[in-house]
Amino acid sequence: MRTCTFFTLLLTVLTSPAHDEQTGSATYLGNEAVMVHHGDSKIVFDSFFHNSFDIYQLVPDDILAALFANKAPYDDIDAIFISHAHGDHFAADQVLKYLTQFPQTQLFAPKQAVDQLNALPNAKAVSKQLNAIELKYGDPAQSLNVAGLQIDVVRIPHAGWPTRRLDVSNLLFRVTLAEGTTVMHMGDADPNDVHFKPYQDLWQAKVTDTAFPPYWFFNSTYGPGILSQRINANESVGVHVPKQVPEALKQTGKPYFSKPGETRGLGKLKEVE
Ligand SMILES: [Zn+2]
Repeated sequence: MRTCTFFTLLLTVLTSPAHDEQTGSATYLGNEAVMVHHGDSKIVFDSFFHNSFDIYQLVPDDILAALFANKAPYDDIDAIFISHAHGDHFAADQVLKYLTQFPQTQLFAPKQAVDQLNALPNAKAVSKQLNAIELKYGDPAQSLNVAGLQIDVVRIPHAGWPTRRLDVSNLLFRVTLAEGTTVMHMGDADPNDVHFKPYQDLWQAKVTDTAFPPYWFFNSTYGPGILSQRINANESVGVHVPKQVPEALKQTGKPYFSKPGETRGLGKLKEVE
């Protein structure tokens, strides 16, 4: 009996949501798919896609099933964010299916992705949930305030700039959840400061608790400086990590997500009152 009580206590301490209540948490779902949760707010990035290119981590079937069954902790998603319309980040049919099933959920995505969705039968039913973002390279940031979320979005070229994939609209989202946690999802951003420097005022306007850069930022020439100095983020956690984690990434010693279902607190450097 005493042992039982002890284990119950231990479990209570281990599963205590104290950190979550302070700063929110992020759960990794696969490739660049991240769920961010703080208080009553919950959002997902790049969580519905079909293509792993045999390299990247798909969202496992059990997590997908939980999302569609609205089963905790994958329930009550306020908004879906899509960085760009590539097959390892976005599947129009799956996003449409989710929005149809959950009319309270809003979608924020490049117009390229929304156009794909609108080409599907029955897309009309979700038209009120669609927020299509159309930005050209170099355009000022767009700011939106929807569903209790403060959203800033800029177009940062896809990796491969300046020769490849210039036609793909890759969006960087900075989102503040209702309770105050701010995260940044960068999609497949190209790690060159020439894209980030013009938005200095935007970065300085708000501290980001946690940024989710594609892992190649960590071992590129300018990526580390962008993360540590330019974007005003307290920490950066790499995503888009291949299933076979590259040795070069391990050697950087930087934090990254690679196991679906893994959860971490956000903004570890933020002072706790
Ligand atoms: Zn891509």
